Amino acid sequence: MNKDTIFQNIRNQGGRLTRLRKEIVQILVEEDCLLSSAKLLSRLNKLNLTPNRSTIFRELLFLTSKQIILKNNISGVDYYEIPCEQHHHHHLVCLKCHAISKIEIEDQLAAQEKKITKQNKFRIINHSLEFYGYCRKCQI
Ligand SMILES: [Zn+2]
Ligand SMILES: [Zn+2]
Ligand SMILES: [Zn+2]
Repeated sequence: MNKDTIFQNIRNQGGRLTRLRKEIVQILVEEDCLLSSAKLLSRLNKLNLTPNRSTIFRELLFLTSKQIILKNNISGVDYYEIPCEQHHHHHLVCLKCHAISKIEIEDQLAAQEKKITKQNKFRIINHSLEFYGYCRKCQI
């Protein structure tokens, strides 16, 4: 997902483009996968942006409510990422070192979503699917 498209989307929804907001989007676009709020905060700090916890929380809430980013709670930690329709992916989560890696699998869930929407009158935005286990390093 292109960041300018996202900025335009925020503007179209009546959102202001503050520096903090733009940097969060930029960081998540570059990461192209899940990032915890703690990691996001440390990346922002490197850019000399030091929002306090409630500011960052409000910002993430705003972006989530506008469906610009998605929240995913894995093992009790909140992660955020920008959904990408073209490169839709899932995750491998290591239960020992908590490393998360991105995988693309063939899934027929997109077709299923249409059916689910119709049957349940539920407008689906996205789905998440995580596989839990032990990474190569942690299997020893
Ligand atoms: Zn991801
Ligand atoms: Zn591991
Ligand atoms: Zn999928």
